[in-house]
Amino acid sequence: MIRERFRQLYGEYPAAVYSAAGRVNLIGEHIDYCGGKVLPAALSLCCRVAVRPNGTNFLRISATDLEQTALIDLCRTEDYRDLRWWKYHAGVAHTLKQAGYVLVGCDLLFDCTVPFGSGLSSSAAIEVATAYALAKMGGNAIDKRELAVLCREAERGYCGVSCGIMDQFASANGKKGCAILLDCATLESEYIPIDLKDCVLVLADCNKPHSLLASKYNERIRETETAQSLLSRRLPIGCLAALQPYELEEYRRLLPAVIYRRARHVTSECMRVQRCVNALKAGDLSLFGELLNASHRSLRDDYEVTGFELDTLAEEAWERPECLGSRMTGAGFGGCTVSLVKRDGLEDFIARVGAGYLKKTGREASFYIAEIADGIIEEDA
Ligand code: ADP
Ligand code: MG
Repeated sequence: MIRERFRQLYGEYPAAVYSAAGRVNLIGEHIDYCGGKVLPAALSLCCRVAVRPNGTNFLRISATDLEQTALIDLCRTEDYRDLRWWKYHAGVAHTLKQAGYVLVGCDLLFDCTVPFGSGLSSSAAIEVATAYALAKMGGNAIDKRELAVLCREAERGYCGVSCGIMDQFASANGKKGCAILLDCATLESEYIPIDLKDCVLVLADCNKPHSLLASKYNERIRETETAQSLLSRRLPIGCLAALQPYELEEYRRLLPAVIYRRARHVTSECMRVQRCVNALKAGDLSLFGELLNASHRSLRDDYEVTGFELDTLAEEAWERPECLGSRMTGAGFGGCTVSLVKRDGLEDFIARVGAGYLKKTGREASFYIAEIADGIIEEDA
């Protein structure tokens, strides 16, 4: 389909089609920017791009869901920061160019099944798909880790969105059937096989625009920086995630009450990530579920990034006998929950959680089954 659409648009078939994944973070929320370990997985919801060099010095960009198109001059990549839809693509081109990649003019057609603005990181999928396609067409050697770092740099430096490295890393480096235990301080990573037995992971989108996200996200980053700088007067810690829970208790008096609770989320979430990895390695799904619940409570009470909609979705899920655990995933203030659900109760789960959520919030939730897929790949012709 995408190849035909490409030909209709640009007159020839694409040279290649690449697919970059959206991601779900299973556990380890709001600790990537504190140097913690996180546990994301790449999703089969993805951003596909069909691409072909066009012999000019321009990128011509279209998307299957948009009428607008973009023309980006590769000599002036710094000039497109204000574009609404295309700044991610332009930012990636700009950042690759700055990093010394050879770029050639290309025609590109994007088709994205990651819902936009739902916390499953459509932005990272767009960036990674763009970066991979442009790097390949320019004949550059590819290192997926480096591409992830450059994509993150594009989102932060060019698009002005604060973000950790997790999203781009997972989108580029995901592996089918595995989560990625990623150390955000060192970028070391380990694949953790996920055997869900008779369960599935269900994503529920609360369908609320996360308007508070940018300001609150930055506020939390500042609060964790404050915690680290107050504590490091007495404790030599390189990042907040290196702080042990007992150390936090010992030096609690150094921190204002709110800052203490933020730090308590970080230290407790780091412990949960490690326990979750152990639970998954041991095939203990009920412990995995309990850790999801504990993570949500910590994000709700200590970190205060959930909000009425996400709390309602999680609470409705906790009521269901077929659900082993549920929590918000992503940055919060909107977006999705992820729930571990028995496969034979799946229909009930979706019907009952959806109905309960509608009754309490007046909004319809959207549900997706999370299939854990590969990160960036080239599709067969
Ligand atoms: P997410 O949580 O999914 O990463 P973001 O807000 O970070 O959400 O990224 C989604 C952004 O992608 C939107 O702000 C939108 O401007 C941009 N975008 C890029 N391409 C498209 C497209 N083809 N259709 C809709 N939005 C797009
Ligand atoms: Mg995003």
